[in-house]
Amino acid sequence: MTTKEKGYVREDGRKNNELRSPIKAEVGIIPNADGSAMFQIGKTIALAAVYGPKKMHPQHSQDPEKGTLRCTYNMNSFSVEERIRPGPSRRSTEISKITEWALEPVLMLDKFPNMVVDVHINIIQADAGTRCAGINAAAMALAHAGIPMKDMVSSISVGKIDKTLVLDLDKYEDSEFKDGEGSTDIPVSITHAGEITHLQLDGKISKEQLMEVIEMAKEACGKIYEIQKKALKEAIK
Ligand code: ADP
Repeated sequence: MTTKEKGYVREDGRKNNELRSPIKAEVGIIPNADGSAMFQIGKTIALAAVYGPKKMHPQHSQDPEKGTLRCTYNMNSFSVEERIRPGPSRRSTEISKITEWALEPVLMLDKFPNMVVDVHINIIQADAGTRCAGINAAAMALAHAGIPMKDMVSSISVGKIDKTLVLDLDKYEDSEFKDGEGSTDIPVSITHAGEITHLQLDGKISKEQLMEVIEMAKEACGKIYEIQKKALKEAIK
């Protein structure tokens, strides 16, 4: 519900800068993979499985300077209420690419010339924020696979509904308000050191508010990082 005078009130009772709950993370969930992880936030659940590094085929795709990160994002047909058509789509191709860009800056791929690291991300339950959940799961799975990393990556989305910034939209907020005039949804991925590796923005926002978005995302990613770290530590135990 929105009223210009009272500001935006969230239907699930969350504060504007509050993450969904529960947030759950687990590592090592797929025994056959070289690394794997699950990340859940609210009703959104992402699974990631890493295979490799392995020789890149076909040979002409090999990069003699460094290894290649190849991410495949897939939203399972049963992940939403209305079953979606299985197989690749423009959306999944775009999100796969974005996931690679979000993660590549922390990976030491120069250690694996001519090789490929495959990351398969499956969204088994979708309630908005799936690309961020996928990135969170993939970052943990890469660390679990022992791929050398300079840092961890955590990801969250900040929405702008009318003029109000709200953290971590759920599907209701996303579909109800996102396409309204002046509304937008801004996924951001950030390393623990504070470097932004990914930011998407397809609406209008002032420079001041964008800085506020980044601050909100940084604070939230700090909390997500702690959950990712705890899950990885538990796997080592
Ligand atoms: P994200 O999941 O990263 O927020 P979008 O903004 O594209 O990405 O999607 C928002 C939400 O809308 C998804 O998480 C999912 O719940 C829903 N959704 C996306 N695409 C479809 C689709 N083809 N059919 C049904 N629901 C969809």
